[in-house]
Amino acid sequence: MKNILITGGAGFIGSHVVRLFANKYPYYHIINLDALTYAGNLDNLKDIENKPNYTFVEGDICNVDLVSEVFEKHEIDAVIHLAAESHVDRSISDPLSFVKTNVIGTLNLLEYAKKYWKEDSKEKLFYHISTDEVYGSLNDKGFFTEETSYNPKSPYSASKASSDHFVRAYANTYNLPVVISNCSNNYGPNQYPEKLIPLFIQNICNNKPLPVYGKGENIRDWLFVEDHAKAIDVIFHKGKIGETYNVGGDNEWRNIDLIKTVIKSVDEQLGREKGSSEKLITYVTDRAGHDYRYAIDALKLKKELNWKPSLQFEEGIKKTVKWYLDNQDWLKNISNKK
Ligand code: NAD
Repeated sequence: MKNILITGGAGFIGSHVVRLFANKYPYYHIINLDALTYAGNLDNLKDIENKPNYTFVEGDICNVDLVSEVFEKHEIDAVIHLAAESHVDRSISDPLSFVKTNVIGTLNLLEYAKKYWKEDSKEKLFYHISTDEVYGSLNDKGFFTEETSYNPKSPYSASKASSDHFVRAYANTYNLPVVISNCSNNYGPNQYPEKLIPLFIQNICNNKPLPVYGKGENIRDWLFVEDHAKAIDVIFHKGKIGETYNVGGDNEWRNIDLIKTVIKSVDEQLGREKGSSEKLITYVTDRAGHDYRYAIDALKLKKELNWKPSLQFEEGIKKTVKWYLDNQDWLKNISNKK
């Protein structure tokens, strides 16, 4: 039995990782440590909450006593660290809370893993989940590789970059066995409706304006969240200690084109005239310091660990729209948490 601590497991990506691991590996004990902030929601895990190999612990990764108690009580062998403040707009209005969770919280976990595993860290692993935003912004050419220099430009990406640096520093200084992956934008079920795709699905349903930053020309690479969870599974089991893996969907979209794809799918599923909700598009002042383009080169992960995204984008959007339309109660409940 391996005891795996997954932090942030009640959030968007974390809940898909917890479900995948708890179902696929009945001989692992999954301990989900989550503070249940506005983004955390135990409804995301209703289907597995009674599984014998799953335990939920409510609490803050910054709490030194709690983290030590979790490591000792559950004899933690590995950490998959997803807990974070994750929304760029919130980081612009409240950067300190991002430093607290993303930097101090990560440091607290690293410090305890180091203490608890001591010299006996051969079979252990600290797997840190990060973002492609640490690499900064691209123009129309090129891709982020694992060798791209860090150049974070928002308080969110600066806090994630800082946490990545601490993870590598612990590997270098204390021989902590670590792996890092940096992934592009995720979409799919269970995402808090402040993020673009669920926000827009909800607004289209309610005939509310769709606020598009600037001219909608910024470009992002998008990956279906279950494909990210599968990449995390592969990297956790087959990734080389000390390595970094970029994870991406080979799926770049200008925001405005992505929004039109979402509109098309929602209109279709609601039986509205095709594209009729495009009238809801409202251009608003651009986000401060808005990065122009993120694009991931995920060749290393594909070649070395044989992972590739499984879902074609229009199909993933269709599936996502259907999930939000079918789960209006989930949406109402979580939208009430601010
Ligand atoms: P999310 O905001 O949906 O979920 C974060 C979870 O962490 C929530 O359940 C929340 O309750 C929990 N949490 C927050 N602060 C905590 C604390 N102090 N202690 C314990 N738990 C805490 O985030 P997400 O989109 O699922 O992202 C998960 C991870 O993946 C983050 O590290 C993020 O940087 C990274 N990431 C996200 C994306 C994306 O597109 N969403 C892309 C690449 C990487």
